[in-house]
Amino acid sequence: MPEEIIKKETEDNTNDLRAIFDLMQKHSEEDEKLITKAYKFAKEAHKNFERLSGDPYIVHLVGTAKNLAEIKADAETIAAGLLHDVLEDTTTKKEDVVREFGDDITFMIEGVTKLGKIKYHGVERHAESLRKLFIATARDIRVLLIKLADRLNNAATLESLHKVRPEKSRRIALETLEIYAPLANRLGMGHIKGELEDLAFPYILPNEYKETVRLRQKKSKEIMKRLEKINRLLCKRLAKAGITKFKTDFRVKHIYSLFLKLQKKNMDIDKIYDLSALRIMVPTTEDCYRVLGIIHNTWRPLPERLKDYIAVPKPNGYQSIHTVIFTGDGGIVEIQIRSEQMHNEAEYGIAAHLAYDESGKKKTGGELSKKLKWITQLIEWQKGVHESESFLDNLKTDFFNNQIFVFTPKGDVVELPEGASPLDFAYLIHTDIGSHAFGAKVNGKMASFDTALKNGDIVEIITREKSTPSPKWLEYAKTSEAIKRIRISLGNTKKNKERLER
Ligand code: MN
Repeated sequence: MPEEIIKKETEDNTNDLRAIFDLMQKHSEEDEKLITKAYKFAKEAHKNFERLSGDPYIVHLVGTAKNLAEIKADAETIAAGLLHDVLEDTTTKKEDVVREFGDDITFMIEGVTKLGKIKYHGVERHAESLRKLFIATARDIRVLLIKLADRLNNAATLESLHKVRPEKSRRIALETLEIYAPLANRLGMGHIKGELEDLAFPYILPNEYKETVRLRQKKSKEIMKRLEKINRLLCKRLAKAGITKFKTDFRVKHIYSLFLKLQKKNMDIDKIYDLSALRIMVPTTEDCYRVLGIIHNTWRPLPERLKDYIAVPKPNGYQSIHTVIFTGDGGIVEIQIRSEQMHNEAEYGIAAHLAYDESGKKKTGGELSKKLKWITQLIEWQKGVHESESFLDNLKTDFFNNQIFVFTPKGDVVELPEGASPLDFAYLIHTDIGSHAFGAKVNGKMASFDTALKNGDIVEIITREKSTPSPKWLEYAKTSEAIKRIRISLGNTKKNKERLER
């Protein structure tokens, strides 16, 4: 290789890695070594591949790794992020990855590959099941973080795909909007959720997107000026009250969530009070309430708009105080007050909990916030903390709700209770399919009606016109719907028989 090329190559590597390290929080030399190794391994494995944009493949992998570094994922997760496509897209063997990077990273890569096989074709009623399936399949929550980081990068580069395969770019956008963004929201990752929605939006509703952008632009100059003014006065007042440790920033609402609001308000942008918001971050919860007092003492609030999500957090754990004030010059501005910790949790969600603590020591399950109840449960569950009986019971009812997820041969997801049989599946699809079920195939093989279905099974029902329910079926069925239908059919047969005998 000519010297200039080698030099350029080394420079590229250094720049890519620097960009990742700079986004990470406090990390060790060891962490950098691991990430550097993963980077070089991935670059070599994908060296003959390009993205549709013409970029070398490593650009996508570095993009994914940067997204992970930004949400403060740990070094192992970032390394797995760099390697996430090696098993799927290159000739790299699993043994090589295990040898070089160990079982944990290999497990994450395999998890991401598996999730990539689940495709969504926009059947609304399956969306929630599919989201749950994702969580159930991922097993290690870090797999989901990588998948989200991967998707964020793919969504950001949809344009090149759109040029060659518009229908595929639409499917990916739809999946992003209906599966990934709600998933990010569930995991408390507000920032990623907003980004995913905004990236997908123009590919799904192009005209609405343009209109929303136009409306927002029209307003944004006026808004920014007003926010700056409020911010200046606020900083003065806080300083006067002796509050010196605080940060402020302002944001304009994400384009997709603005669109959803506009739809409810007849597309009248003047009716949107939280088009922009001023954020104040202070060290403690007490400080939040002090700041609220100062704000309400300075500007007149809209009383019905005060929301205390600190005392009553949102279901995904989100905490902040929101208040809306009259600015005195005819404007209205939303102000959000939160502690640093609440801010990190709102931005990074679950990732903020998986992160290291101050001393650089990895946090353990016990230190995780109780606020994100189901997430905490999920993590504990993964770590195999099963001591308490009631804890397990809670987990089952709260989180998976004893549910399993199986597929129709076409790939639609069907949600069933644990222990459900092919008959439950049949009745859930259609009463006629249930009552004329003749046989069942599970994963392509004939299976009896008393088979207990498992997560991810593909189930097919064979029907015959003459086939009818037998009393035995009542023992196999688990869902109330199937039991009810079988009883009705059996009752009818009995009545018919009696009528014939009479
Ligand atoms: Mn990828």
